[in-house]
Amino acid sequence: FDTKHKRIMAQQEDVFKKLISHCKEYGFVFPSSEIYDGLSAVYDYGQMGVELKNNIKKYWWDSMVLLHENIVGIDSAIFMHPTIWKASGHVDAFNDPLIDNKDSKKRYRADVLIEDLIAKMDEKIEKEVEKAAKRFGESFDEALFRQTNPRVQEHVAKREELHSRYAKAMNENDLNELRQIILDYEIACPLSGTRNWTDVRQFNLMFSTEMGSTADGTMKIYLRPETAQGIFVNYLNVQKTGRMRIPFGIAQIGKAFRNEIVARQFIFRMREFEQMEMQFFVRPGEELKWFAQWKETRLKWHKALGLGDEKYRYHDHEKLAHYANAATDIEFEMPFGFKEVEGIHSRTNFDLSNHEKFSGKKLQYFDPELNESYVPYVIETSIGVDRMFLSVMAGSYCEEQLPDGETRVVLRLPAALAPVKLAILPLVKKDGLPEKAREIMDMLRFDFKCQYDEKDSIGKRYRRQDAIGTPFCVTVDHDTLTDNCVTIRFRDTMEQKRVAISDLAQIIGEQVSMKSLLRKIVNS
Ligand code: ATP
Repeated sequence: FDTKHKRIMAQQEDVFKKLISHCKEYGFVFPSSEIYDGLSAVYDYGQMGVELKNNIKKYWWDSMVLLHENIVGIDSAIFMHPTIWKASGHVDAFNDPLIDNKDSKKRYRADVLIEDLIAKMDEKIEKEVEKAAKRFGESFDEALFRQTNPRVQEHVAKREELHSRYAKAMNENDLNELRQIILDYEIACPLSGTRNWTDVRQFNLMFSTEMGSTADGTMKIYLRPETAQGIFVNYLNVQKTGRMRIPFGIAQIGKAFRNEIVARQFIFRMREFEQMEMQFFVRPGEELKWFAQWKETRLKWHKALGLGDEKYRYHDHEKLAHYANAATDIEFEMPFGFKEVEGIHSRTNFDLSNHEKFSGKKLQYFDPELNESYVPYVIETSIGVDRMFLSVMAGSYCEEQLPDGETRVVLRLPAALAPVKLAILPLVKKDGLPEKAREIMDMLRFDFKCQYDEKDSIGKRYRRQDAIGTPFCVTVDHDTLTDNCVTIRFRDTMEQKRVAISDLAQIIGEQVSMKSLLRKIVNS
């Protein structure tokens, strides 16, 4: 099992490396400050990346504010009054437990080391079940097997023992116990292979800076580690000026900053990143109903992209954050395993009532139906734009063996998210074909992001478009001049069809419009 596991890991790493270099080669993502050798865990989006990122943001934004009449958006500042982070608990509790390996000098999150071990144990259990399923074929009773097979039982018992010890240590913030678990379970540093660990220490993830220019007048302020607080401190402004009635939501997209301890997975874990958060304000006591509903709605949003339903799963939290009474992640199967892309949290009235305490201002909502005032409860959906970007890239990247023995790299991006919707290609650079191609482009450019390309053979041009995920290529040939038809080529099937120029806008529009994507969520 272990050698097989290592082989799979190596293959996954290989795919991930290819994806990272593809992102760079085609202008999706560049390391920040590259000519100065980069800045750790900070990245820039290139000419293709920014289009994809904007489309992801639009998909999210429209799914919130167009599809829900009781959700509105805001855009709050990154700098906020420092007391906000006292009230939210971030000054005291936004920590990760870190541990160093004395030999490799590498730093790890203690919780992640343990969770990885739990995940490995889970894999072992699943492997046993898979093996048995193959052996027994049709007559396999999975539930019975899980309950009665001694090997599975043994693995499950071990896993449960570790899990409950870990959950207890996390909930009690017991750093010594976290270290003891790492020692007892003989967790070694993946790099040095040794178990020569330091103590576990808490590390606050907030960046700080100073505001003001005089020596005694400066104030220590934080770069926001989440966008949510900007929504909380504005919720009454929005409620009153927008005449919102509970339940209602406020959505926001914006940058967030965290001084992450371990940041080695490309744009998965960055120190500067972007979040799309929506806080949904509900009556106290109704929060778990809304939590369940948002869990479902958000998964539909992901699945509508068509990257494959089997690539998503829920992961309920072991340790509830200091503010939550229910929490789950939506995980996506990245090249390095299932990882969190989005968090859905029932935050109770923790934030709002703490802001009441710290600001001395009333933050209550008067509910006209109940004829009473209360501090609303909050359900939050929080997703990282960059992680979503990575999941979309990973889910779309594909190396294909073609019948003629060649391989092509194709990004099977959901058409509505693709940076370029169509390429317009004159077959040759003469005989009036470029002019005709430009004419078509002038007609379509108002609706779709188009790219004009007349360099190299048509085959090479198709490959370039495949590599950036362009869903359609439109080729203009000599016949076009007389019959006003073009050849349209579909990215995924490579099928080609002769169609009238006048039909292009409709054919392309149906596939690439955000509208059809949004309809999929509603109809699923
Ligand atoms: P993790 O456990 O991976 O550190 P988290 O549980 O702290 O994540 P949340 O605080 O719930 O994350 O943040 C909500 C979302 O913001 C995450 O689901 C993720 O998509 C995104 N996110 C959080 N931290 C980062 C980061 N350092 N880089 C990129 N995206 C991030």
